[in-house]
Amino acid sequence: MTSRVGIIGYPLGHSISPAFQQAAFDELEIDARYETWATPPEELAARVESLRAEDMLGANVTVPHKQAIMPLLDEILPVADSIGAVNTIINREGFLIGANTDAAGFTRSLEQEARFATVRKRALIVGAGGAARAVAFGLAWEGVSELVIVNRTPERASELARDVSEATAAETRGGGLDDIGGSDGVDLIVNCTSMGMAGGPDPEGIPPVEGLLKRGVLVCDLVYNPQQTPLLALARERGARVLGGIGMLVYQGAAAFEFWTDREPPEDIMYSVALKALM
Ligand code: NAP
Repeated sequence: MTSRVGIIGYPLGHSISPAFQQAAFDELEIDARYETWATPPEELAARVESLRAEDMLGANVTVPHKQAIMPLLDEILPVADSIGAVNTIINREGFLIGANTDAAGFTRSLEQEARFATVRKRALIVGAGGAARAVAFGLAWEGVSELVIVNRTPERASELARDVSEATAAETRGGGLDDIGGSDGVDLIVNCTSMGMAGGPDPEGIPPVEGLLKRGVLVCDLVYNPQQTPLLALARERGARVLGGIGMLVYQGAAAFEFWTDREPPEDIMYSVALKALM
């Protein structure tokens, strides 16, 4: 029997997960098919139920369902519970487990691709949506000493800062986009908004961090399409080191693959297929 797994979101647009996940199954000669399941909110409960079938390995979950899907599952793993979002579902004989691999995907990308040692570093996160929550907890678990979170809607940043500081040792504060002023001297800046994303609400947008872009700072953009975002182009021009979002995407997907199959994911293959799919 061919196993199935897929991505649940709405609208799904052009997701590259199917390409690199299928390549991983094929590489390891696992008889499985990765499908695309565009699911409007009113069909979410039925979609989740369908995952209990014998041939289902599980699913990836993306916007706008990462939070709404949580009460429909049987168990939420502690990492996903802290972050407050699920991006991976694992089907264990009809019992559905919710996991979050975004935080690990991001910190893996930081270590693997930028060789960035997180312990005792100061970081600035722009954004307070689902991705920002994963990045904030990921950085705090990896030992950042100080975390500033700013967002267009300041209340969301303050709430995330409170959640992180209650659960971890990181000194954390939240505010609005104009509260970036006191962040001089940060080691790491992460754009977790959709500013700069092709086809998004503000494709030419750059978070208001221009004054912090300089040599010695690592600037990350979770946006992976385009690979060279307006923020990364400017950061590079100012002499900062840069890291795009493709690594996080591949490593969160690789961690999900491992949950579904209990096999070591062929990350190199996944990475090169993801790059090709983006081009
Ligand atoms: P989300 O939950 O919808 O959050 C969107 C965030 O962007 C919020 O903080 C929102 O601020 C902010 N924002 C949106 N438009 C803005 C604008 N014009 N000006 C200022 N702020 C704006 O989305 P998400 O899931 O966190 O994803 C955020 C980005 O990360 C997306 O571009 C997504 O593609 C990317 N991402 C990448 C990966 C990866 O693996 N590389 C994984 C997940 C997400 P408000 O709170 O004020 O609305």
